[in-house]
Amino acid sequence: MERQCTGIRRRVGYLAQMTHAAWSLFVFLACIVAGCHRADSTRSSQKPKIWKEFSGERAFEHVRHLVDLGPRPPGSDALEKSREYIVKQLTGFSWTVVRQTFSEETPRGQVRFTNLIANFNGAKGNHGSTAQFLLCSHYDTKIFDRFRFVGANDGGSSTGELLEMARVLALEPSLASRIELVFFDGEEAFEEFSDTDGIYGSRFFANQLVRSGTAKQFRGGILFDMVGDRSLDVTLPPDSPAQIARGIFTSASALQLRSYFTYFSENVTDDHTPLNEAGVPTIDIIDFDYPWWHTAGDTLDKLSPKSLQIVGSVAAYYLANFAFR
Ligand SMILES: [Zn+2]
Repeated sequence: MERQCTGIRRRVGYLAQMTHAAWSLFVFLACIVAGCHRADSTRSSQKPKIWKEFSGERAFEHVRHLVDLGPRPPGSDALEKSREYIVKQLTGFSWTVVRQTFSEETPRGQVRFTNLIANFNGAKGNHGSTAQFLLCSHYDTKIFDRFRFVGANDGGSSTGELLEMARVLALEPSLASRIELVFFDGEEAFEEFSDTDGIYGSRFFANQLVRSGTAKQFRGGILFDMVGDRSLDVTLPPDSPAQIARGIFTSASALQLRSYFTYFSENVTDDHTPLNEAGVPTIDIIDFDYPWWHTAGDTLDKLSPKSLQIVGSVAAYYLANFAFR
């Protein structure tokens, strides 16, 4: 009885051991599978929602810094100081900056202009880079002889916006490496806007894209201009590339910010114009409903971090979810 019992017990024990081994193997395999899933879900949940990371306050501080430099027309010392500030910030966020310098005849004589082109993490800048999307702003301010013009909104706001975008994009390197940041010089006309006066930097940049055959590597672009008005009404030009406009509106809706975005009554000539002509569909995210446009009143107190936050988060949402679909 005892033997039998022992025998049975042994057999049961043996079966139990076998079962335990099989069970352990099963658990082990299950853990691997589950582990993979867990790692996957952890990875995807760790992928930063860059639109939530965008800080209007940080963008505003960049604008403050630029405005503190005073009027920043092409060729001025203040604009060189702006460049130094922009390059320092971008480098700090792991972007590599190339200076694209050229001279052009203007109503005030020969002027030297410099666009700043940034690619993420050592990519070579424009020609030879793998970027597929352009994010742009002009960083010069219009020259006025009759009054002091610091361009807090016109020149300042979009530049601060783009610098903060550089920081949040760097949180997602695979996205950042597909984007080229361009800070245009000479957007403003020295006198009246014409075919030969104004948008100097973007005309030169777009020409280079066409000449080098690199325009087609860019599937699209966003230009920011005057995006800091504390009473924000983004007025997209009616001729905006439809697909990008749809993506911007959908992004704004997803973030419950749709009411800030509408269409302008007429088309606008801005730095996006030469890019569109070069075959890169580019939208101008601009708030032209700004009473202080080209007046001495375009100062920091007319802006708010919240407006920069609204535009920045919508654009970041668009970049992460629509730009590369
Ligand atoms: Zn202007």
